Amino acid sequence: MTENRTLTEAKEQVRAFTASFLRKTGRRPGVFIRTFGCQQNEADSERLAGMAQDLGYAFTENPEEAELFIYNTCAVREHAELKALSLTGQLKHVKEARPDAVVCLCGCMVAQEHRLNDVKNRYPYVDFLFGTSHPENFPLYLATALTTRRRAFYPDEEVCPPVAEGLPVRHEAPFRALVSIMYGCNNFCTYCVVPYVRGRERSRKKEDILAEIRTLVAGGCREIMLLGQNVNSYGHGLYTDYGFSDLLSDICRIEGDYWIRFMTSHPKDATRGLVDVIASHCGEDCHPKIVKQFHLPFQSGSDRILEKMNRHYTASSYLSLISYLKEKIPDVALSTDVIVGFPTETEEDFEDTLSLLRTVRYDALFSFLFSPRRGTPAEKMEPVPEEVKASRFSRLLAVQNEISLEKNRAAVGSTVRVLVEGKSKTDPSLLSGRTEKNRLVHFSGGEELIGRFVLLTVTSAEAYSLAGTLTPGQEGISSR
Ligand code: SAM
Ligand code: SF4
Repeated sequence: MTENRTLTEAKEQVRAFTASFLRKTGRRPGVFIRTFGCQQNEADSERLAGMAQDLGYAFTENPEEAELFIYNTCAVREHAELKALSLTGQLKHVKEARPDAVVCLCGCMVAQEHRLNDVKNRYPYVDFLFGTSHPENFPLYLATALTTRRRAFYPDEEVCPPVAEGLPVRHEAPFRALVSIMYGCNNFCTYCVVPYVRGRERSRKKEDILAEIRTLVAGGCREIMLLGQNVNSYGHGLYTDYGFSDLLSDICRIEGDYWIRFMTSHPKDATRGLVDVIASHCGEDCHPKIVKQFHLPFQSGSDRILEKMNRHYTASSYLSLISYLKEKIPDVALSTDVIVGFPTETEEDFEDTLSLLRTVRYDALFSFLFSPRRGTPAEKMEPVPEEVKASRFSRLLAVQNEISLEKNRAAVGSTVRVLVEGKSKTDPSLLSGRTEKNRLVHFSGGEELIGRFVLLTVTSAEAYSLAGTLTPGQEGISSR
């Protein structure tokens, strides 16, 4: 219920509130956003931040300075839900101390009816909730909360809502942009909640995507990350003769010194044709350049488990695509997702996963303990005991750590191009950045390098990061 306001009226009401707050206090009200989960959620939070700023709020990373709290939640694993609920619980004290603060929960977790009801019944200090389907209505929901001071809940009602275009975005960093090219998923992997909480697949129009990227590049953006749950099915239902490879080719015509990344590819839909397009746009002299890095989740090395997961490929068809990738882009960096302890997984199935890991020798691995999700087919399948899952998980990490360390050590002595991201999280006296292959590198340098490409000589390696030094002449580099 939004009291029949139009979106325009709602925006005016919120702007009147923020202007009056500014007059009374001498500052704009603050918005604090906490994001759980994947990069798609991060991209959604950047739009919420953009909308809140457009309505007169000031973005803050300090909860003490906030009048509006937005928690953008994740439902992919139970752990993410429990964390979101526990941090939401802490907002009770905020509301007690500052009853005028507005608290909003949104995203995948509360797109599930049972979680929406949990929050409704057990977290009375949450003012409003909305799922994933209509982010453009955020000003309407906020205006209702500010003017009525009544709680409100906005469940997702459509399976395939329209794509919202033209929303303001506040990018976390001006030199890196997350660009969603599609929303939702049609694949229904049996373990996954995404199709239920994000609805069916829908693609953005190519003109909208290309216009957004042109503006970003003109503004000095150095890295474009294209996002979708299955980027390989970009364009389905929208175009009959235009797909992800065509979109990549069109993006590569937007000239500039920037990198193009994308995720996620589904092995059943990633084609050799796509590999050919990438191979033709990832050479050293390509501007822009598709990075020589490919994320291709395999989830399990056992065909029996892959079938139970509804993944529609086999270990051997997966490996054949990997061979083609390595043949066409010999120094390609590969990363993947693996689920450990999927229901009924035997020791033999798990050995197949380890064997695939050893065959491919990934540069990076994202591994997850199977987490049963309400309403998915795998929730009802025979579970693997927790202690077995845990022990397999450690064995998997041990194998991967060894591979990662060997690969990182092999990079010592080489020169790498790095996009400088900011101060290092582990040692703020250093800077950190990522190579084209997405390796994290720490090095010493001035803050003016943040957001720029620099050349580094790799001096040492650990399993998860490299250390380097600026190559001579790079200290005052400008790639703008
Ligand atoms: N669409 C992408 C794909 O198909 O690879 C990834 C989406 S999902 C948000 C990211 C990863 O989470 C998946 O690749 C999978 O490994 C993991 N995941 C999803 N559901 C899970 C579950 N119920 N338990 C454990 N891991 C899960
Ligand atoms: Fe989930 Fe599978 Fe869709 Fe990825 S492809 S979002 S794992 S259902």
